[in-house]
Amino acid sequence: MARKLVAANWKMNGSAEGNAALTGRVVEAVSALACEVVLCVPYPYLLQVGGLLAGSRIGLGAQDLSEHDAGAYTGEVSAAMLTDVGCTHVVIGHSERRKYHGETDDVVLGKVRRAQAAGLVPIVCVGESREEREAGETEAVVLRQLEAVFAGLDDVGARSLVLAYEPVWAIGTGLAATPEMAQAVHASIRTALRSRLGDDAGALAVLYGGSVNADNAASLFAMADIDGALVGGASLDAEAFISICVANSGR
Ligand code: PEP
Repeated sequence: MARKLVAANWKMNGSAEGNAALTGRVVEAVSALACEVVLCVPYPYLLQVGGLLAGSRIGLGAQDLSEHDAGAYTGEVSAAMLTDVGCTHVVIGHSERRKYHGETDDVVLGKVRRAQAAGLVPIVCVGESREEREAGETEAVVLRQLEAVFAGLDDVGARSLVLAYEPVWAIGTGLAATPEMAQAVHASIRTALRSRLGDDAGALAVLYGGSVNADNAASLFAMADIDGALVGGASLDAEAFISICVANSGR
């Protein structure tokens, strides 16, 4: 049975005051649920949110990390720094990083390696653009992004990550993939995982991300290969995020 996981991606949102209210409510409501929950928050708030999560079962994640170890890389944040402030997870290869910061598949792999070497669980994002979907290239793009990471990892590394299928056209648009569209891609991902990891493929969480909300979460989670969600906009609303976590733990 694959793991159940819901990860929040706050993106570049938050304030000290708002974080306290949002995190407090989430801790109160999701701690007893049968799904893993991780909050991926902006760097400046990692210590604050980590403090608020202390003693709970909720993980703390960053939204990126440096592909470098340490040194003269102004503005960057290393894997060791993330573990130092209590992170358990880190989002890598989000489409906004690929698009606005030119992150290539090679850079994504470098970051995955750094994260794993430091003991962080990478949440690796893959997904096609609207143009790629319209050109019938969805599966090819997603599997290329996946293979680029897998090719550089040993079997332990390949087993020690979370994948997030995030069609770029669905992120932040309110236009989620239908459960059937998402499932079709998740099934291809699972087949690729099986050919690499055999029976262990079932234990690796494959999340869907892209306009998940309180209304569509349950129908997405009803699909055989959708193990959870990476949630952007709806994770900023405590009640919406909690509903998504409840939907995932009940499936
Ligand atoms: C995301 O930021 O990864 C995301 C899926 O955003 P949203 O849920 O807002 O589409």
